Parts: sequence; C-alpha cells; structure tokens
Amino acid sequence: MFSLLDRRGGLHTLITQPGDTLAAALLRNAIPPTSVVVLQDGVAGSEADQIVPDGHVIDPAINYTARLIEGYDIVGMLKLYESRDSSATYVRRRLGLSPNGHLRMERTPLDLAAAAEHVESVVRDTIAEGSLLGKGDRVVLGLSGGVDSGSLLMLLAAYRDAFGIDLTIDAATFQDFDSKWSETFDFARRLAERHGVEHRVLEPGYAEEVFHLNRPIAQILMHLMETDDAHFAMYVDHHSTRRVLEVYADERGARKIALGLHTTDLLAGLLNSYTSGFDIGTIPMRSVGPYSYILPLAFTPKRELHLYYAHRTGHFPKQTVPNQWEFNPGDRNFFYYLADHLQWHWPGIETWMFTAHAHNAPKRTERYRACENCGGSVVQQPILTDEWSGVCDVCALLDKHGWVDR
Ligand SMILES: [Zn+2]
Repeated sequence: MFSLLDRRGGLHTLITQPGDTLAAALLRNAIPPTSVVVLQDGVAGSEADQIVPDGHVIDPAINYTARLIEGYDIVGMLKLYESRDSSATYVRRRLGLSPNGHLRMERTPLDLAAAAEHVESVVRDTIAEGSLLGKGDRVVLGLSGGVDSGSLLMLLAAYRDAFGIDLTIDAATFQDFDSKWSETFDFARRLAERHGVEHRVLEPGYAEEVFHLNRPIAQILMHLMETDDAHFAMYVDHHSTRRVLEVYADERGARKIALGLHTTDLLAGLLNSYTSGFDIGTIPMRSVGPYSYILPLAFTPKRELHLYYAHRTGHFPKQTVPNQWEFNPGDRNFFYYLADHLQWHWPGIETWMFTAHAHNAPKRTERYRACENCGGSVVQQPILTDEWSGVCDVCALLDKHGWVDR
C-alpha cells in the first residue's frame, strides 16, 4: 500500500501497478517525486533509516508513505487535471488565471470540424493582433510538404480568401535532401496548386551558390554526421534552408517570410534561450536583418495542427522517418519533451510566455552583422565575447571542414 500524507495529516491512497517504482507510482498519481520523501514501514531504527529512493520497486507486502514536503496544496492542484469527458473528438483545455489568483481549468469539447474552425480563428487573431500581414504584402512560405508548413499554406490561403485581401503567397520548397520526386514534394506541389499559391522547388544548387559550396548540401549533412560536429547538422540544415528562403525572397521582391513553427517549437526554443542565455527573436514576428519572419502558428499547438490537417485533407500526415540528425542533439529533444509537458500542465502558457518575452526582448535591430560568405544576418549574442570573425557560425563550420570554395 502506498499513501500520500498531506500537510494537514490527511492520508490519500495512491494507485500503483505491479512492478512500479516509487517514482513511476507518484507520476501515475500526478505527484512530482521532488515534492515528497517516501518512507517504508517495518524498518528498524530511526525515521531516517526508513527513507526509500525513487527507483525502489514497490513491494506489495510493504506499506509506504509519501510525505509531502512542499507547502502547496497538491490535492487542490490535482483537481485541476481531473476529467473524464470523452464526449467529443478533442477537449481543448486552458488554464484560466483570474486577477485574484483563482485557477480554473476550462474545457471546451470540440468535434473535428469545430477544432479546425478554432485553429483558423486563432491564426486569424495571431495575424491581426501581431500585425503580421498587411494589404499588398508578398510573403514567402517555406513549404516542406509536412504537416506544419502544409497547414500553414492552407491557413494563409484561408485568411487571404476570407478577407479577400491582396496577399501574394510564394511557396518555396528547398530540395535539400529528399528526392525531387518524393511523395512529400508531390503533395507540396498539389497543395499549392489547389490553393492558388505559386510554388517553386529550389534546387540544391541554390544552396551551393548561396554558401559557395564545393559539394551538395545533402552530402555535407551526411558527412557532418560522421564528425565530432554531428550535433550541428540540424542547425546547419535549418540555417541553410532559411538563408535559401531569404535569397528567394529577394528574387521575388518579398521582405516577409512565413515559417510553420508552432507552439511546441517556439516553447522549446524559449526554454533553450532561458537556460542558455542565447537571445532568440520575438514571437510571433521577428526581424532578422532586412527580413521579417512571421510565425502565424505561434499559438497553435502541434496537436491542434494535426487535427486541422486531418480535417482539411481527410487523412493524417504520413509519419516520415526522421533524418539522422533530427534526433540530435539530445538537448533539443529534451526541450521539446519539456515543452509538451508544460503545455499539458499549463495549457495556454504560450500566451503568457510569448507576450512576456516580446515585452522583455531588447531592441535587436541594430545588433546585426552580415556574414561575408552566405550574406545571412547574425545577431550579436550578448553572452558571446568572441571577436567577430566575419562569417556566421554555420559558414565557419562549413569552412573548417573544407566545404566552402574560396
Ligand atoms: Zn554564413
């Protein structure tokens, strides 16, 4: 038997499963293991001798008591998460905080169509409140053919059509790795066509030219995975894709670039930024050199994006096998994992975090330098004191491995 002893002396029976460790049983009951010290009965000696570690496997014949050491009302907290509503496809939760400090979990049951309509309205509000798009705008959209950018295309097209505004969307697929004839590419092309959006596939040669490379970027990424710099591969991939989109935007006379980053992406980035000291741009719009990056999906969690996509296309996105570098580095995975936990415990936290972040972000516009190789804008990071070498860290890395043509 495993019980929780609260600070008022109340004893609560915890649900356990055979083979559970103490930590697993506490988590099963939504109790953070760090909030208790667990003692077991039947041990000779003082109370201190009865302490058992988190990894101890529960013996059904022994009584265990988790003593709450934190001062908060854990039983009250747990009530926030109690729900057995399965009346709809999706129950949207928001943690409501009132000015007097009162907490309430708001739950809105939605069928698939209503969930999709909700996503569209959140994106409309994000665009309007963040002044992301205006009349006569031309925006370049990085379209990989996956669920995020595919949904963003549909949502931007829906926005354009709903308001009949003069908005030109230029979708561009950067063919960095996948075959030009892959299913994903084909889907990107058809999606753009169906929504009246011009679509262009940017051949790998595009990146070779922008970065002055002596071999294809796909080859470089594969090579990189075999070096000690493997953990930079994903960063190189993202940086080169963004820079290629910028150069394409120049070609099209556009200054705005729309990215399909959603709530989880951005929360993970913020957690990284807060813990490392690296400055990241504001949300849902950030300027990087002469470009404005707009993030219309900032307030749309990944799961809602999937529901939207499923409703609009009638199928779930194909689960693609991640590239070798997508599970690297480990800390990136960890930040995503934390970001999902955060959203579960505090649904709606993004509104608070992104707003506070935008508020505290220093004026960044004067703190850019242009990379002498790729032309990309580099933010001067306050925590880095190294001399400016003239090139961005990606170009420096590419050069170090001998992949940049002089
Ligand atoms: Zn560069």
